[in-house]
Amino acid sequence: MVTTHETDKYVYDFAEGNKDLKDLLGGKGANLAEMTNLGLPVPPGFTITTGACQAYLATGREPDGLAGQIEAHLEALERAMGRRLGDPQDPLLVSVRSGARFSMPGMMETVLNVGLNDRSVVGLARQAGGSDRFAWDSYRRLIQMFGKTVCEVPGEEFEHALDEAKRAKGTHDDLDLDADDLRGLVETYKKIFVKHTGREFPQEPREQLDLAIRAVFESWNAERAILYRRQERIPADLGTAVNVVAMVFGNLGPDSGTGVAFTRDPGSGAQGIYGDYLANAQGEDVVAGIRNTVPLQELERLDKTSYDQLLDIMARLEGHYQDLCDIEFTIERGKLWMLQTRVGKRTAAAAFVIAGQLVDEGLIDLDEALHRVNGAQLAQLMFPRFQLDHEFEAVARGIGASPGAASGAVVFTSARAVELAAEGKSVILVRRETNPDDLNGMIAAQGILTSRGGKTSHAAVVARGMGKTCVSGADGIEVNVPAKRFTVGGRTVSEGDVVSIDGTTGKVYLGEVPVTPSEVVQYFEGSLDPERTDDALVRAVHRIMTHADDRRRLAVRTNADTGADAARARRFGAEGIGLCRTEHMFLGDRRELVERLILAATDAERTDALAALLPLQRQDFVEIFREMAGLPVTVRLIDPPLHEFLPPLEQLAVNVAVAQERGEDVAKEEALLAAVRRMHEENPMLGLRGVRLGLVIPGLFAMQVRAIAEAAVAVTRDGGTACPEIMVPLVGAVQELETVRAEAEKIIAEVVGDSGVEVLIGTMIEVPRAALTAGQIAEAAQFFSFGTNDLTQMGWGFSRDDVEGAFFWRYLELGIFGISPFESIDRDGVGRLIRIAAEEGRAARPGLKLGVCGEHGGDPDSVHFFHEVGLDYVSCSPFRVPVARLEAGRAAIETTGSDSR
Ligand code: PEP
Ligand code: MG
Repeated sequence: MVTTHETDKYVYDFAEGNKDLKDLLGGKGANLAEMTNLGLPVPPGFTITTGACQAYLATGREPDGLAGQIEAHLEALERAMGRRLGDPQDPLLVSVRSGARFSMPGMMETVLNVGLNDRSVVGLARQAGGSDRFAWDSYRRLIQMFGKTVCEVPGEEFEHALDEAKRAKGTHDDLDLDADDLRGLVETYKKIFVKHTGREFPQEPREQLDLAIRAVFESWNAERAILYRRQERIPADLGTAVNVVAMVFGNLGPDSGTGVAFTRDPGSGAQGIYGDYLANAQGEDVVAGIRNTVPLQELERLDKTSYDQLLDIMARLEGHYQDLCDIEFTIERGKLWMLQTRVGKRTAAAAFVIAGQLVDEGLIDLDEALHRVNGAQLAQLMFPRFQLDHEFEAVARGIGASPGAASGAVVFTSARAVELAAEGKSVILVRRETNPDDLNGMIAAQGILTSRGGKTSHAAVVARGMGKTCVSGADGIEVNVPAKRFTVGGRTVSEGDVVSIDGTTGKVYLGEVPVTPSEVVQYFEGSLDPERTDDALVRAVHRIMTHADDRRRLAVRTNADTGADAARARRFGAEGIGLCRTEHMFLGDRRELVERLILAATDAERTDALAALLPLQRQDFVEIFREMAGLPVTVRLIDPPLHEFLPPLEQLAVNVAVAQERGEDVAKEEALLAAVRRMHEENPMLGLRGVRLGLVIPGLFAMQVRAIAEAAVAVTRDGGTACPEIMVPLVGAVQELETVRAEAEKIIAEVVGDSGVEVLIGTMIEVPRAALTAGQIAEAAQFFSFGTNDLTQMGWGFSRDDVEGAFFWRYLELGIFGISPFESIDRDGVGRLIRIAAEEGRAARPGLKLGVCGEHGGDPDSVHFFHEVGLDYVSCSPFRVPVARLEAGRAAIETTGSDSR
């Protein structure tokens, strides 16, 4: 509840605040105060606090005491300026500007020239040395801004009237309008105002001021602002501050002007000032693009004194804030005024480069540099980029499922992708959705485009694992595989036509958009030496990554199922494999053996099929152990339902019917069809999969355990070091794990003998029941790895293959969550399950090794959570390894604080 007392202080002079009071004074007010106290030329003014706004919003009226405090500060301002608000001879004018803790869309921005009316406009002209034009221009701006932002008069009506006035004068430039034209425009504007508000434009300056302040308060609850806060998880009760600042004028003639500037290039981070200047104009003209600005360097020619002073101030601000600052300024008849500064936004590349430079300049230390960059920025820098320097039209938009930029000829089948890639062509594999059969095509393609599925669909997860660009769920696209074409917005794209897909924005373009490769990836891959390159970005990334590695407590492993992926991940800094999914090893030319296994009618047939699979599996593991020599490799026993390895029911039924029609021998197909029918499940995700398979199909897990142990022994005998960890999926009860473990231990003991190989046996924690009985499960497990994909699926009851595309857009819009829980860990729910399991698991087995291998292992925010919970490692796809390393370092410094520097 908001309480108001007579003693509450609602108004602060700029001289009373400082940059650390953003909660009270908002960002703008706090920084204006800071500049004032630095002795920089800031026009005098005061800030009405967020507390006043909170009180207003709670009660619907200005809190007691506010009006009096505004009056007192206004009087002080009048004294400082030697002018009075509303004085017809020599009026003080003020601007009213909102300024919340965070800037957000929908908030009211600025009203300039408050205090002007029919009488004081004449005084203003006199004060401006007889410039009638200036005075009437200022007045028409007030009515326009006040009308639009305070009284909700449609802005287009004012713009239309201004255009009309220019047309009548035969010009495109508002500077050609003279005092008479502008006086006429003021009359027109006033009529527009009356038409929409039912009242005259307020002539009383204090009323103008109060209405503007109230409008700022109320804009806190503008629909767009509410939505934005919900999505960004900004508390709804912060409120906004209001700044009232003495006006200075950039529109007093050619020796006046206004501009914006950055202390370094916010695009590349390069040193040197960047900005735009517009002579004879007020601030909103720059934003509105009414006239063309000139580069800031031009100011040196126009007004060298102000230019030099500005440069000097910018250097001071950078030194003071120890960061890139952006600035708004105005020059009034050769006198420079600072209107705003803040730590400026920048691109991902600039964030790294600037952090590195500031360390070199001795302004910040490496911990601070690490704190100022983040994994999302690093991820952005690791993907090739489109050079969208000329307009390309996006024809569809899906989910940016795996970032990057890819162009290529459209193909609709995996086989065609492989064929064309073998001819050296770039291809984009387009499917409604992908399945494990598309794997070879996905490997061959530059990118994958699907019309169905979300961020954890098969296409998305596999593409991210490969670091391949993927747009999923582009539902504007109608895919017709047999006809080898898709349609989108009435256009048809056939096999061989070129498209380009942007895996960050989810946009799909027709034709080839040129692409630039990532230098940061070249660095991680080892082909760009950070000590030799003159690429400032690569040098900065190297330096900050090295520091993150020094700082982090979490180890970073990778999810990899092939020797090639393992090798790449190791180059990216992976310290082992946290998840090797074995099901991918049952595809391709091994499919036939898997079919034999499934269709086995007798024990002998099944044993034969497994025996044939064993050496193939062993060879898979040998390659992986070799690549990860000396590092732990967690191999997960087979997880998906076996019917996923058989052809789809409909396709099989059609094949059998057609073959029967032709009188062909279909015994084998009929047996397959019967098996598919028998094994059909309504909810396969909750069906016969994971540990359940191992308990139901005799010999299946045993074959895998033997292959792992034999491979480890073989690699060790060859002089390598294999450190296998066998992981059992989908365990919900300790008895399941105990049963599997008992059999596995026998096989391991038999195979390993005196080779010195040690094999750990642990479990995934991915069923909520497992998390809640973790104390019992830990008795049988040497490690836990959290499978957060399934834990999220089963924790929320959200089908991971369907919901993101189906309805998450609405949940995001409603602010039920700000980000998909499949992307970033839901700390309160799924996160709580993890916390409970970690605590109870370690209580039962001190030192129990804990990791995570779901997609969340590579998500920046989730990495911080896993650090907080005390996990030992995160495991993620190879391309996310550097991101996880960086964020693990950031998490460590954020917990220890800056005193460890
Ligand atoms: C998980 O569920 O988080 C996991 C890693 O296993 P999968 O994605 O293979 O189900
Ligand atoms: Mg799982």
